[in-house]
Amino acid sequence: MLKRLEIAGFKSFARKTVLDFSNQTTAIVGPNGSGKSNVAEAFRFALGEQSMKSMRGKRSEDLIFSGTHMSARANRAAVAIVFDNTKRIFPKIDFDEVTIERAVFRDGSSEYSLNGSKVRLRDIQELLASANIGETGHHIISQGEADRILLANPRERRAMLEDALGLKAFEFRKQEAERKLEKTDANVKEVEALRREIAPHIRFLKKQVERLERAEELARELATACQQYFAIEELYLDTEKTRVIRERAVAGEKLAVAEAELKAFEDRTTHDSEGMKHVEKVRVAERALDAVTQERAQLAREMGRVEGALDSAKRRSHAVAEEPYVKVPRHDLAQLQSSIERAGDLAHDSDQAALRAALDAIRGAIGAFLLRFTAPKDEYLADEENQVYTLENERQQLAMKDEDLANRIADARAALERARQDRTAYDETGREQQHRLLSVADSRATEEANVARLEARLNELSYLAEEFERERHEVLALAGSSALSYEKLTELPHEDRRTQEERKRGVERLKIRVEEAGGGTEEVKKEYEDAVTREEFLTRELTDLAKSAEGLRALITDLDTELHKTFSEGLVKVNASFGEFFSLMFNGGGAKLVLEEFATIEEEDDEEETNDEEVTNKVRKQGIEISVNLPKKRVQSLMQLSGGERALTSIALIFAMSQVNPPPFLILDETDAALDEANSRRYGDMIDNLAKKSQLIVISHNRETMSRAGILYGVTMGADGISKLLSVRFEDAVTVAK
Ligand code: ATP
Repeated sequence: MLKRLEIAGFKSFARKTVLDFSNQTTAIVGPNGSGKSNVAEAFRFALGEQSMKSMRGKRSEDLIFSGTHMSARANRAAVAIVFDNTKRIFPKIDFDEVTIERAVFRDGSSEYSLNGSKVRLRDIQELLASANIGETGHHIISQGEADRILLANPRERRAMLEDALGLKAFEFRKQEAERKLEKTDANVKEVEALRREIAPHIRFLKKQVERLERAEELARELATACQQYFAIEELYLDTEKTRVIRERAVAGEKLAVAEAELKAFEDRTTHDSEGMKHVEKVRVAERALDAVTQERAQLAREMGRVEGALDSAKRRSHAVAEEPYVKVPRHDLAQLQSSIERAGDLAHDSDQAALRAALDAIRGAIGAFLLRFTAPKDEYLADEENQVYTLENERQQLAMKDEDLANRIADARAALERARQDRTAYDETGREQQHRLLSVADSRATEEANVARLEARLNELSYLAEEFERERHEVLALAGSSALSYEKLTELPHEDRRTQEERKRGVERLKIRVEEAGGGTEEVKKEYEDAVTREEFLTRELTDLAKSAEGLRALITDLDTELHKTFSEGLVKVNASFGEFFSLMFNGGGAKLVLEEFATIEEEDDEEETNDEEVTNKVRKQGIEISVNLPKKRVQSLMQLSGGERALTSIALIFAMSQVNPPPFLILDETDAALDEANSRRYGDMIDNLAKKSQLIVISHNRETMSRAGILYGVTMGADGISKLLSVRFEDAVTVAK
């Protein structure tokens, strides 16, 4: 409830003036122009009135004390209303006293404060709405404005009624909900735009990530395939290398042995006159044997001759000794005979030399013949004996010679035999060696081929090892280190090498697929995750927004329903009171508020061309008309009422409205001005009635009205043009008011 009004610098109240409202009804009295209405306007002002007209000004400066010839003007007009809040008529404020203050300055600026803290006008409006103190001022009825509600159009009237019914608070909440909804819808659009914006990016990234994942899957497959392949290949290459090196060493050794043997053989053959020597030796031995054999044959012939000669010499010597005849040796005779024959043969020939030689031979033979015949017989005999002796000697010598030759032949034969044996032995060795040579050469060729083959294999293996390293490197790049983290095998699988080759081909195929899959970087994944997170966030936000929009729409609907219900119910109640007050004032008759469609208000979101359906979306708002039924009169229009009748009707309506939803206070500025004595009494009764529910401040010249007030303030204005306030007694008040 109202506690105090403090005015300073506002209009004619130059000095700080305080009005206490400890009574339920307060009357303000005073002569014309003393500043009573300024008090009512001070209320309007403090409650946030924006219309200058309703405060009888043009500019806000007009509200500030303008000064007189006796006192200086004020720079600031300030009005504070102090409420008692012990009953928490302002439920949101936890103080027993609530002070609303407004100040205006000469530059036109306005300031509002709530319990000393600066606030916005809107805060004041909401606060007042929560306590059913509306802004349209149905609770402040200014002078001459008693029939304002009658003059107002149906729409304004409806607004006044709504205000009186306390729908303002609902309205505020609805407006707020609508504002929030609008914001929410804008947010939804914004978020949807963002989602639309990132959608293609997400699709793009998703494809990238899928590709990446495919590539990773392939890379994993490759890694697994490689682990097996590498493990086997590594062991295979090691084992092969060891085996080949060992085999090569063995082959090398064999080759060296063969080569050494061949070399030795070659050395022998290059110095091999040995065979020839053997042959030569045999030949020499043969020749030596031949020579001694011939020599012995010669000796045998010589022996024959000597033995023959010896025989005949022996016989001759015998004959000589017995006979005196000299015997001519048969040999000499034969020789002579053959020489004669020969000469005979040659006589027919022309060869003189040969003939001469034959003749010489004859001559020689005959000479010897003659010699014999002429020599004495002893001499001759001695000669014969001598010859036997000589021949005997000769024969002995020859025999000795023969014996020697026989020995020599035996020796030569033995030597030949030895030479032959040597040669045969040598030849035998040669043949064996020939065999050996062939076999060694063969084995050398074999081992050479082996070494060459094994070395080629070693080269191949080292190439394969390099290739293997390259493969490992390549796979490391393609499939990562897991491809190389495999357990080393200790034993090769029992399988055909082709199986491993097939594995290698499989690995190659996978490598190509991994390369083709391309892949990307991990950043893409991160980016995709971020984008998805963002998208999810936006989706959640959309859901949240949709939920809150739904909530807001429900709230608006609820508020609409509530508004409608409260309005309808309020209207019924107001009408009941209105009729009652009316018939009380007019001593009969009746009056009521009638709902009437007055306009179609297009909704704000009338976007493009309106079609039929949208026309129905236009909200049909109903205004309020006043229907009166004066007793004994046939008055249809409000316009036809007299000034007093109009005053009574509007008072009845204002009071009726106050009854339904009583405001904390009601200011009536000379509302009773047009009333005659009888009606003044009725008015007074109604004031008493109203005062039960609302605090009343009545500005009045009316004695009857004054008599109903618990406290009376007199307002005077002296020569200084400044309004002054004083408490007066009822009796004085009547005087003061005049
Ligand atoms: P009535 O009984 O005739 O209705 P009232 O007591 O209601 O008179 P108001 O209308 O409240 O009188 O007061 C008007 C007086 O206030 C005038 O004398 C006017 O000069 C004075 N006044 C209005 N505005 C200012 C102002 N800004 N500075 C000084 N005085 C002002």
